Amino acid sequence: MKLLPPPSFKPYRLFSAGWGTQSTAVLVLQAQGKIKPYDAFVWANVGDDSEHPETIDYYNNHIVPFAARHGIQLIERQRIYKGEPITLYRFVNDVQHSMPLPMYFSEGGKGNRKCTIDFKVEVVNRYFKKEVAMSHVEMGIGFSRDEAYRIHKKYPGWHDHNYTRQPNGTWKRGKKLGFWRLHEFPLTELQLTKAQCIKLVVDAGLPEPPPSLCWWCPFQGRSRMLDKKKNRPEMFSEMIRLEDVLNDRYQLLNHNAKKSKRIGFHPDRIPLREMPDQMELWQNFKDVDECDIGICDV
Ligand code: SF4
Repeated sequence: MKLLPPPSFKPYRLFSAGWGTQSTAVLVLQAQGKIKPYDAFVWANVGDDSEHPETIDYYNNHIVPFAARHGIQLIERQRIYKGEPITLYRFVNDVQHSMPLPMYFSEGGKGNRKCTIDFKVEVVNRYFKKEVAMSHVEMGIGFSRDEAYRIHKKYPGWHDHNYTRQPNGTWKRGKKLGFWRLHEFPLTELQLTKAQCIKLVVDAGLPEPPPSLCWWCPFQGRSRMLDKKKNRPEMFSEMIRLEDVLNDRYQLLNHNAKKSKRIGFHPDRIPLREMPDQMELWQNFKDVDECDIGICDV
């Protein structure tokens, strides 16, 4: 039986922000009084060394002053590991003993997106559970109309457990949340596409937001990787180094893995140090922005 809050009860209203285009559009809509306001916009920052630097700059130079001008509360939190905040980059590079990133396996398939759960979803949940400490939360997610296909992945109604969708379409009940949560999608309710979100943001006097994602994210698409190789060589070299570190660890952890088996950031399973420059090779591939939202599709 689903438990609903009593009619007079006012749940906390939290927007889970990633500070890409869609979250910024929701912030603008709230400033313009066009949506039911959120009590706070909560950002699970994966770390200033992990999030794309343009997103960090955009947050500091545009989101923070805009929210202050309109009296909107912003909250920024990080994952806590062994009692201390930790960035995703440090966790991946120095600490992790299993593979938390959705990297591509040379033999096919890819790793789980555990990074999203641990460094974004759980960070927002933890904020609500430990700091707000109320029983019910209405949690806004910034899917635009063109991303509405992602909503079917969200279980409807009030729920107090995590659920994961099984390949056969059923839901498997997971860990208890410790509170009741209802997801809502203000941009799809207003039927706004990503292009309309950009216009809304620009019309409000803000620059177009950069995509919000980790600079090494395997879901960033071929064009962005090529752009990094050409225009951000220091960042691309660091991606190569990280790929090497993770491969060495993968070989150690998977004693049965043959030398030929490897993991990588590139969806075509090309080691980054061998990635060709010719864009023509990729013209037939469609790049996707799977992580271009605050909550990385979970
Ligand atoms: S942007 Fe990519 S690497 Fe970063 S948390 Fe999301 S899925 Fe993981």
